[in-house]
Amino acid sequence: MAQMRTLHDALVDEIRDLYHAEKQLVKALPKMAKATSNSALRTAIEAHLAETEEQVTRLEEVFELLDLKPRAKACAGMAGILEEGSDVLEEDADEAVLDAMIIASAQRAEHYEIAAYGTAAAWAEGLGLQSVAKLLQTTLAEEKAADTKLSALAESGINAAAESGAVGAAPSKGRQR
Ligand code: FE
Ligand code: FE
Ligand code: ZN
Repeated sequence: MAQMRTLHDALVDEIRDLYHAEKQLVKALPKMAKATSNSALRTAIEAHLAETEEQVTRLEEVFELLDLKPRAKACAGMAGILEEGSDVLEEDADEAVLDAMIIASAQRAEHYEIAAYGTAAAWAEGLGLQSVAKLLQTTLAEEKAADTKLSALAESGINAAAESGAVGAAPSKGRQR
């Protein structure tokens, strides 16, 4: 059990948790990208994979600023989210429904990260660790942008395609005369 005497200890613990969360995502995102047949969704996931790799490096910079060796702590939260996400990929789902479900699990991962980076950035700022706070805020902004992008993709047709699939690929309203 780790000693948590100060907010600084808690911050280090949070950074170690995030380090493992990001590393898990580096492994999981390619599987999600491969599973979708929607090229816009695949492109968005691959773009966020590239960002996620940079986020791992950014956390290593945070460790360095804190005079610590990069060390991960098992992040059970992300492990659970990604476990549910990989179950989704094994369902016998129609393409558009699968895409909607992939977005749902990717957004769960983003929201976990947004919560964790938001907390860590606020703590770093409170502790007067400006450079650390800045790095964490940079990643936080990327996570929020990734989440917004996923919402936009869902709302720009993927959900609608999944809905029409649910009623047996009914024609769109415009053609029902
Ligand atoms: Fe991330
Ligand atoms: Fe965690
Ligand atoms: Zn992310």
